[in-house]
Amino acid sequence: MSEESELKFCSACGALLEIKIPEGDTRERHVCTKCGQIHYENPHNIVGTVPVYNGKVLLCRRAIDPCFGKWNLPAGHQEMKEGTMAGALRETKEEAGAELKNVCPFMLLDVPFASGTHIYFIGDVVNPDCKPGPETLA
Ligand SMILES: [Zn+2]
Repeated sequence: MSEESELKFCSACGALLEIKIPEGDTRERHVCTKCGQIHYENPHNIVGTVPVYNGKVLLCRRAIDPCFGKWNLPAGHQEMKEGTMAGALRETKEEAGAELKNVCPFMLLDVPFASGTHIYFIGDVVNPDCKPGPETLA
């Protein structure tokens, strides 16, 4: 278990959490010292796209940290109860203002040191006059 975890208190009762292996489990978890609730931490899905227009890939220049000013593909955290493709298209619209058609899976990248899985779709940009959102410089 990561020593960098930000989990400190139980979201059910507010008591302190301790790190231990619950009965019947094989890994250390955050367990409430009062009510016993187990708080699981799992990898985050980052969803995004490779937007293509006339054989070129549309990139975004980040207006937020981390990596302010760096170029990247439009992507972000998948929301709860949101599909991976829906999240990727939402992030593409939010960050690049771009809408895509002919969308299909492109690649999956495991980033275990950051406990993340990046899932990318590729598609054709249908609105080349798109404008970037507030998280994007250009
Ligand atoms: Zn509790």
